[in-house]
Amino acid sequence: MQITIFIISAFIIAGFLLIIFRKKKQLTQPDANAEKEILSRHVLFYQRLPDLEKIRFEESLKKFLQKIRITGIKTTVEDIDRVFVAAAAIIPIFAFKDWEYRNIHEVLLYPGSFNEEYHLEGGGRNVSGMVGTGALQNVMLLSQNDLRSGFLNHTDTSNTAIHEFVHLVDKTDGSTDGIPEILLAHSYILPWLKCIHEEIQQIQNGQSDINPYGSTNEAEFLAVASEYFFEKPSLMQEKHPQLFDLLQKCFTAGAN
Ligand SMILES: [Zn+2]
Repeated sequence: MQITIFIISAFIIAGFLLIIFRKKKQLTQPDANAEKEILSRHVLFYQRLPDLEKIRFEESLKKFLQKIRITGIKTTVEDIDRVFVAAAAIIPIFAFKDWEYRNIHEVLLYPGSFNEEYHLEGGGRNVSGMVGTGALQNVMLLSQNDLRSGFLNHTDTSNTAIHEFVHLVDKTDGSTDGIPEILLAHSYILPWLKCIHEEIQQIQNGQSDINPYGSTNEAEFLAVASEYFFEKPSLMQEKHPQLFDLLQKCFTAGAN
């Protein structure tokens, strides 16, 4: 009798565990087919990859989503959001096969833009993404609207989520200063700084198609120029050949 109760209890517990595990899996991992479909339809970087690299991209995406939690604040996180957040994380470091983000464990998704104090209403709602500091250390805040339009709109050179992940990569060497020392060989640092300052000058003179926000400082320049680089590489190569060349050195593991 006792054995029967034990067996029944074990089955019940196993059943509960299975439900919990499935639910957790559902929460963090999009279905593989849905994931491929979203990548093929919307993610230009993925579309340009050869088939074998596409598989490596999908694997990196899965790994990222197993580690990083994506939480909706007054909004529901859908498969498309999970795939877009993970794609934005992988794109800048895809050439670095062993890369692991160590300075993030959660992404908070807000329905739209928020202000510097993370409020969704009231004045100053102009922030579409942010790498958290202080109590929000290792947390990234993103506007769901901007996350989606970054990938769905193929006509511009902006992508908020890529912008924020480039800040995280920049931060890996200890300072968010626009010099991604972890990616860029030492000998390229001076040419990189010279190039940034020339490009910022052109923005300030009104002679550049780079988002003027990039002229705020070197860190913002790196983030804004990287958005452009990943969204419209051929246009950047044509209009800013030197910048294109240096960013390619940054984001290609072979250059290090
Ligand atoms: Zn920024």
